[in-house]
Amino acid sequence: MTAGYTHEVDRCVAEINRMAAAGADIVRVATPERKDTAALAEILRQTRVPIVADVHFHFERALEAVEAGVHKIRLNPGNISDRAHVNAVIDACKDRGIPIRVGVNEGSIIERRDKKKRLDELGRFFADKQDGHLIALMITKLEEYLEIFRDRDFHDVCLSAKLMDAASTIDVYRAISERFDEPLHLGVTHAGPRETGAIRSIAAVSALLADGIGDTFRISYASDPVHEVEDGLELLWSLGLRERKGVDLIACPTCGRIQVDLFTLVQNVRTKLADTIDLPMKVAVMGCVVNGPGEAEGADVAVFAGDRRGIIYVQGEKIANVPEEAILEQLLSACLQLQDRIRAGETRLGEKRVEIIPPDPIGELGSGFERIASGDVERATPLTITRTDPV
Ligand code: SF4
Repeated sequence: MTAGYTHEVDRCVAEINRMAAAGADIVRVATPERKDTAALAEILRQTRVPIVADVHFHFERALEAVEAGVHKIRLNPGNISDRAHVNAVIDACKDRGIPIRVGVNEGSIIERRDKKKRLDELGRFFADKQDGHLIALMITKLEEYLEIFRDRDFHDVCLSAKLMDAASTIDVYRAISERFDEPLHLGVTHAGPRETGAIRSIAAVSALLADGIGDTFRISYASDPVHEVEDGLELLWSLGLRERKGVDLIACPTCGRIQVDLFTLVQNVRTKLADTIDLPMKVAVMGCVVNGPGEAEGADVAVFAGDRRGIIYVQGEKIANVPEEAILEQLLSACLQLQDRIRAGETRLGEKRVEIIPPDPIGELGSGFERIASGDVERATPLTITRTDPV
């Protein structure tokens, strides 16, 4: 979802196009005011990704968004008090073949306008500290809302029920998937910044996707939405639910055996390859020859570091043994050459992979498996390890 104002057309278009370039399949924009829906037609002209208009409270905004030609409306019927107004939106979407996401959210599920009803719902919720009551309330609301749509013979609906707690999110979506046949949009709401929100979001969404639950999802951060797209894609790739685009980077976590500044090397390899390689090439950056060869087995390109050196392999063939300062450049060049050969039809990814059985390439790295195993590893020069990501 975009983070900026929808009525600032140039900025909104730029944000949507950045998200689309990062791999977003759908982008949602907020339309709280008339000036936001007034901007939609121009935004749609300048973008190529389906746009969802997020409407709260004002049914007129939904009608204006439909008129502008958006691809989907996100609506919570509970936020629009007049049923005739909700019906008008449903009918407009039906005429245009536009789907509607019907969402309930932890932040708005408890009544906010009717004080007596609110106290009653809060009392019931907090009397039972388990998430059971909240989930039951969400399902009840969704059933109520779906009745409105079914009454209008409108079935192009997808459902969402968002909470901020990963375990409760898993529970509610499992319950919803058993109860309803409609497609589901997954997500954890107000998950926080990327640093803490990533685990919260991905813990819930990945568990559900692995169960086969969910048709669309959003990873949501209080941060640049491009990060939401990047992390969402990485999740799909990691679960094997979508073919990877770009490098599949394997890197050892490092331990007391490393003899190069692997943290800096890995970050530099990651950023450089992200800019230059668009094939799902498997690249391994390993700190030593103890576990490195086994863990990198199957990589198209690999480097194994030793005492301030690295040996680079491409498709199972050793192509270079270089000092630490030359590893990055040689590795990038090896990846680019492989990409060119693949594009020229001379070879394929995964065709010939790294397969190294220790003790080779032991002696060449200055430390070697046997020396590491015997505890006889001396560093040629003192090593400084960078513990923060390079800019
Ligand atoms: S590959 Fe070597 S340096 Fe890296 S974590 Fe494994 S044993 Fe340690």
